Amino acid sequence: DTTAVAVRARGLGKRYKDAWALRGCTFELPRGRVAALVGANGAGKTTLMTVLAGLLRADEGEAGVAGRVAFVSQDKPVYRRFTVADMLRLGARLNVVWDEPRARRWLDRFEVPLDRACGRLSGGQQAQVAFALAVGSRPDVLMLDEPLANLDPLARREVTAELLAEVDETGTTVVLSTHVVAELGGVADHLLLLAHGRLLAGGDLDELLAHHVSYTGPRSEV
Ligand code: ATP
Repeated sequence: DTTAVAVRARGLGKRYKDAWALRGCTFELPRGRVAALVGANGAGKTTLMTVLAGLLRADEGEAGVAGRVAFVSQDKPVYRRFTVADMLRLGARLNVVWDEPRARRWLDRFEVPLDRACGRLSGGQQAQVAFALAVGSRPDVLMLDEPLANLDPLARREVTAELLAEVDETGTTVVLSTHVVAELGGVADHLLLLAHGRLLAGGDLDELLAHHVSYTGPRSEV
């Protein structure tokens, strides 16, 4: 059933000069789920997301995304001189679909002041502005590069809860990257493990655990 697939990659590869940052990546992400790209720094997570989002062209293979994509890069894409309210107006102007209440709800939840210049917000709040604009565009696929990296544990839990609410309420598919598996806190039900630009494993969390982790029971006393 192809309608249930949100993101598909076939033999996807991307190189910078002679070095392949991504090679032979083949996978499908089911719709309406939270998928995590997990890998060390330099594993190719950012490259994969950027190619999937259509911001970089693949050097081999192909990628397809069902519907509209929002991509939040790691460096917070806010204009420092713009207030948060200005950013909302920008979102309304630039997006084909714009759900202002949704964006505002996110900002309210994280107590981001609308009249503050983005340059005067904390790094965490700047990230919340970027997330708010992304959910306001009501994407079919929401891609977030290391969204939890600079957040304290409480904010991390709240962002996680909001992302899950997005998935439940709008059927959005969320793809997020992290190099810290512990950060995921149960948010992702689908994993793609990347190392040196290659996909080591990918699939449902339950399936991956069943195939790759064996539990032999309590150690017997000798
Ligand atoms: P990080 O979490 O540090 O961003 P990542 O998993 O997202 O890591 P990428 O940023 O995709 O990894 O990088 C993958 C590889 O490609 C790395 O070896 C990196 O040095 C290289 N690379 C990334 N961007 C460029 C670029 N613009 N030019 C040349 N090499 C690049």
